[in-house]
Amino acid sequence: MGKLVVITGVPGVGKSTVVQYALEGTKEKYELTNFGDYMFDAAKEFGLVEHRDEMRMKMPLETYKDIQQLAAEKLSAKSKETNIILDTHCSVLKPQGYYPGLPHHVLKKLPLNLLVVVESSEEGITARRRKDEDIRKRDDPIIEQQHLNRMYAATCSVLTGVPLFIFKNEQGKAKEAGDTLRMVLEGI
Ligand code: AMP
Ligand code: MG
Repeated sequence: MGKLVVITGVPGVGKSTVVQYALEGTKEKYELTNFGDYMFDAAKEFGLVEHRDEMRMKMPLETYKDIQQLAAEKLSAKSKETNIILDTHCSVLKPQGYYPGLPHHVLKKLPLNLLVVVESSEEGITARRRKDEDIRKRDDPIIEQQHLNRMYAATCSVLTGVPLFIFKNEQGKAKEAGDTLRMVLEGI
């Protein structure tokens, strides 16, 4: 059984960068895996969407839930043999409201070892969103969603009995944030 670490944070928080730094020189190897990629592959296969953000904006809730469940099943199989850092979201803002990225039916499938929330300042996140092609269109409320994500993450921690680590990726200090995350990874 591999280790499974879930890393979450609002779009533009700098998750990918921090994880890349953290994984430089870890004792155990981890594969960085993106939950959204698994959902997008499944959604494309069924001809449901053409673009990544259409899942969030256009897919009906029931279909979205099914695709999310499929992705969780595939990831569950993968985590049997590999150590995984799973890049995902505590909440996804859909037209109907905040939808949980890690609801009970997903948590049941994923044998988690650690839950991580990365946070950053509103200014830093806004600046990164402006630069990043993929998330340029995102104008979701940053402070509100970061606050809500803490509550969602705490709920996941209680449901699974897995520790929750919350830390900051300060503007211009992604390497330091990576060092912090590496230390935590070495301890699980
Ligand atoms: P990302 O590239 O991490 O922003 O993810 C792209 C998209 O994948 C998000 O906008 C969501 O629609 C979807 N997604 C990622 N993780 C989850 C999850 N755990 N549950 C539901 N949808 C997710
Ligand atoms: Mg990313």
